[in-house]
Amino acid sequence: MIAVVRDSATAEQLDHFVRWIEDRGFRTNVSQGDNETLVGIIGDTTRIDPFLLESMDIVERVQRVSEPFKLANRKFHPEDTVVDCGHGVLVGGGHFQVIAGPCSVEGDNLMAIARAVRAAGATMLRGGAFKPRTSPYTSQGMGARGLDLLMEAGSELDMPVVTEIMDPRDVGLFLDRGVDVLQIGARNAQNFPLLREAGKSGIPVLLKRGMSETIDEFVMSAEYVMSEGNANVMLCERGVRTFETRTRNTFDVNAIPVLHHLTHLPVVGDPSHATGYTRYVRPAAYAAVAAGADALEIEVHDCPAKAWSDGAQALTPDQFADAMRRIALIREAVTADLGEA
Ligand code: PEP
Ligand code: MN
Repeated sequence: MIAVVRDSATAEQLDHFVRWIEDRGFRTNVSQGDNETLVGIIGDTTRIDPFLLESMDIVERVQRVSEPFKLANRKFHPEDTVVDCGHGVLVGGGHFQVIAGPCSVEGDNLMAIARAVRAAGATMLRGGAFKPRTSPYTSQGMGARGLDLLMEAGSELDMPVVTEIMDPRDVGLFLDRGVDVLQIGARNAQNFPLLREAGKSGIPVLLKRGMSETIDEFVMSAEYVMSEGNANVMLCERGVRTFETRTRNTFDVNAIPVLHHLTHLPVVGDPSHATGYTRYVRPAAYAAVAAGADALEIEVHDCPAKAWSDGAQALTPDQFADAMRRIALIREAVTADLGEA
């Protein structure tokens, strides 16, 4: 971290500032240029609040040179992390998967949807049993019974199950049922006790980006999970909230290569929540694959008009099968070896 000191600072003020930093256990490196004086702060600067420094009269501005995330940082772990989701399904480091299923688990139709997505090439099954709904008066999901249905379908079709957990107290329930991947939703992306409990569980976590999280904040959310000893984190871009009203969210396709650059974790694209409308889901899915996503998460429903939640963005099984054929072609184009550019 570098603090740029104001021109007007006296030698005594500079000295006082340097001592203040060193008293906190950091080393300093003062470089006096013609136009400005820089104080390099050396040590674990994640422990310093840059805003506090910037609030000091002597400080013009503060610049971070290293990111506040360590465990997720590609600098300290150059090779891609490959997450083993169970049932022989790997994500990341060249392993590409498609997670599909309904927004909510609703009952018997789950098996039919799961069979259809499996037949089309999906390798992981999704479905929400505990639903984070904006209104407490809409369906909140089937709860534990929904987990049972998901696990039955996953075991019959040999697919790992991805399902959302909202309450840190439910980790035991999810582990007892044998859930393969804990999904942490956008609304809980900064629910720090939940992130920590998911970290302690040790099982893979599909972490959605918060609706208004910057990329750095998103990676810090992953850092919470990882700081509990769980490196099996997949980062899911699912759209962020912007001024746009024509789509449910704005799909930040940029985030996919940026997250790959900054971190070693697999990156997942969710074109369903990113767009909110069935007609836009396929093009957004193709964009995510073209941008290098390691997996996609897509909502599919046998009768979208009757879905308990997110029917407006569900693909029918036929639409999903069509998407899968094109996804395979795009994936081939993206991974083709054309020699060094
Ligand atoms: C979901 O996957 O159904 C969901 C609620 O997603 P998000 O948290 O991204 O809104
Ligand atoms: Mn949904």
